[in-house]
Amino acid sequence: MFEDIPVDVSPMYEGERIRAANMFVELAGPKSMGAELVQVEENVEDGKIEVIGPELDAMHEGDIHPLGIQIEIQGEHLEKELEGVIERRTHELCNYVKGFMHLNQRDAIWCRVSKEALAAGFKLEHLGKTLSILFKEEFPLIESIAVTILTDPAMVEEFVSNAKEEYQTRDARARELSDEDVDVFYGCVMCQSFAPTHVCVVTPDRTALCGAINWFDCRAAAKMDPEGPIFEVEKGDLLDDVKGEYTNVNSVVTERSQGTVERVFLHSVFEYPHTSCGCFEAVAFYIPELDGIGIVDRDFRGETPLGIPFSAMAGQCSGGKQVEGFTGLSLEYMRSPKFLQADGGFERIVWLPKEIKDSVEEYIPENMKDKIPTEEDGSTLKEIRSFLEEKGHPIMERMETTTTETPEEEVTIEETSEEWGELETEGMQMAPMAYAPELTMPSSGGVKIIFKNAKIYAEKVIIKKK
Ligand code: SF4
Ligand code: ZN
Repeated sequence: MFEDIPVDVSPMYEGERIRAANMFVELAGPKSMGAELVQVEENVEDGKIEVIGPELDAMHEGDIHPLGIQIEIQGEHLEKELEGVIERRTHELCNYVKGFMHLNQRDAIWCRVSKEALAAGFKLEHLGKTLSILFKEEFPLIESIAVTILTDPAMVEEFVSNAKEEYQTRDARARELSDEDVDVFYGCVMCQSFAPTHVCVVTPDRTALCGAINWFDCRAAAKMDPEGPIFEVEKGDLLDDVKGEYTNVNSVVTERSQGTVERVFLHSVFEYPHTSCGCFEAVAFYIPELDGIGIVDRDFRGETPLGIPFSAMAGQCSGGKQVEGFTGLSLEYMRSPKFLQADGGFERIVWLPKEIKDSVEEYIPENMKDKIPTEEDGSTLKEIRSFLEEKGHPIMERMETTTTETPEEEVTIEETSEEWGELETEGMQMAPMAYAPELTMPSSGGVKIIFKNAKIYAEKVIIKKK
């Protein structure tokens, strides 16, 4: 099937990482731009593959180019609602190609081509061809498929802006519904390939943390393939409407996480927060010193108030673990009226990057708009605290009424998630892997090691399960 493709194509290459030393070129990603878009269209010329802009053999080693992956599909039973879910598979299917690495989704994609792939004669045209074969194989509803790979900067720029409009239309649709309006939620286990205990619970109010799949997308996907990675989850009885806890959601998550996660609060970072795989758009994190919650997204390059950048934080809370005080989320979820409602919603948010603040501004309650600091107002706890004081942020009242003792915190260092690996930290200044007022390391032989006010600097931390 892949006889014309000069490199191997197989699910076994899914976890392949292409590091700087072995990289021929980088496509899209934080230093360039890019997007992927699947659209159901009429009159799709089946098998048409086109590359617009420079091919790999016209690029130079170490180059960074923009990238657009445009996929048009047609089929009698294909619904527009399936676009989001089919598009989300681009990540996995691109990674079947040996020597091609794909991270993230939508307009956050980040790809690399290895030197070996280039030497073997691999071209972007082959990527298009492979995708066209794999998508048809994975989704029998697709009768015709055409793939266009864009590397021409002006074309990619236009494509990215069109793609963003499409994402926006998809996202806006789900805003019309609330969790109460439906009897079923959906589960997704697509990310179990690298986060084996991770189960996403997708509800009208809580778009999936990858930001690419909403309740409508799931409904279409579960209808198309009830045995697939996206499935119906009956809500069961409501246990707590503020935290967002339901009996049957707990049961299904327990079953699908192989018993690892037994309870999920959909709208809180405390106690039983939603688990995080690694492809979240942003992370909500508890800041004990301020008793508030910060938000950081993957585009933010600086340090968070916890003293670590996004990449290190992602390493701490991903991989499918339930880590109290952290939860991965989509930016779209911040537009929901239920956004972390059990914790106080925006009234509990004490820091977030300016870019996110601007993008969700109309959803921030009027009285809070000027009270939440961004990196422009401060990044250290001291700076943030004086901003909060000056603006009369409601957290100040909360801090006064609650005890002044440092809350007992237990922070665990997680192994670096597959999705981030060393890639994110490459070329980055050494930043502390973990900072904790008090850090307890589990160890054998009845010995407990406690670090107080420790900042740990490490090039790599590997903690193996016994
Ligand atoms: Fe599915 Fe969640 Fe992974 Fe998105 S992040 S693909 S919803 S498991
Ligand atoms: Zn994921």
